[in-house]
Amino acid sequence: MDLLSIVVPCYNEEESVKLFLNEIQSILSDYNFEVIFVNDGSSDNTLNVIKNLADSNSNVKYISFSRNFGKESAIYAGLSNANGDLVCLIDADLQHPPSLIPEMIESIRSGEADVVAARRTSRKGESRVKSIFSHMFYKVFNRVSQITLVEGATDFRVMKRIVVDAVLDLPEYNRFSKGLFQWVGFETKWIPYENIERVAGESAWSFGQLVRYSVEGVVAFTTIPLTIVIFLGTILSVVAFLYMLFIIVKYLIYSDPVQGFATTMSVILLLGGIQLLSIGALGKYLEKTYTETKKRPIYIVRESNIDEEC
Ligand code: UDP
Ligand code: MG
Repeated sequence: MDLLSIVVPCYNEEESVKLFLNEIQSILSDYNFEVIFVNDGSSDNTLNVIKNLADSNSNVKYISFSRNFGKESAIYAGLSNANGDLVCLIDADLQHPPSLIPEMIESIRSGEADVVAARRTSRKGESRVKSIFSHMFYKVFNRVSQITLVEGATDFRVMKRIVVDAVLDLPEYNRFSKGLFQWVGFETKWIPYENIERVAGESAWSFGQLVRYSVEGVVAFTTIPLTIVIFLGTILSVVAFLYMLFIIVKYLIYSDPVQGFATTMSVILLLGGIQLLSIGALGKYLEKTYTETKKRPIYIVRESNIDEEC
């Protein structure tokens, strides 16, 4: 029977992991599966809880990072170490209902899709402001990038080996998994589900982090901000040139004395703002190029019960 690998990024999930494993075990009792917990530098007791679970369950593996590297890194580590013919990526906090997994596997086995992913249809338990901004982000992102992100799409998914390998072939350091999963393509089926609040602990996402995450996504998947800068520059140059002609002609006809302090100030401030913004946009891409060229590892393992052969 095909092996199913279940990859679970964990950051401060001491209360969730055991509940999570119980749930998985009861739902997948008929399947041949391994669970790979990736402890992403938790500051609570998550690692010990996971180790205890691994001691009593031979199909529980773990990888523990040397510090918190972020969920994207945890996902990469988990996928890299998964041996399954099918790989399931799921959160530890039970916000991704494991009860969907058998249905997802079925869709793949029947040849309907290469990837079956879950899509949240409600945003219960999330603030209104967050929802509105999130909605706007999807709208704008899909307009300007080559890939299309599905609104409410989560990382929760079951993938065929071929899809996992394709994702792992993208070795970039700045990982925006939502985009990477779309970028590799393949036949994807979406399963809608209602948002569920986490069983324990708290979400690590602040509003500021969400904004940063959106910027990451834009920079990783489109260079449109640079095009906008060129466009703005062109328009402004043309307008400035016309205005210059206007001033010269006006001077020749009326030979006006110096005037227009307000206009001068507004133009200087406006241009200053646009220039700083443009440099900022450039800088963001430069930053990404800079971090990529350093070729730092995506994660560092402190301990694990997986042999280093893979
Ligand atoms: N997570 C992680 N590293 C981090 C933050 C989160 O591995 O730095 C894990 C976390 O343990 C959970 C999943 O990523 O399993 C989703 O995190 P969270 O529930 O905080 O995000 P949300 O559900 O609010 O999107
Ligand atoms: Mg969560």
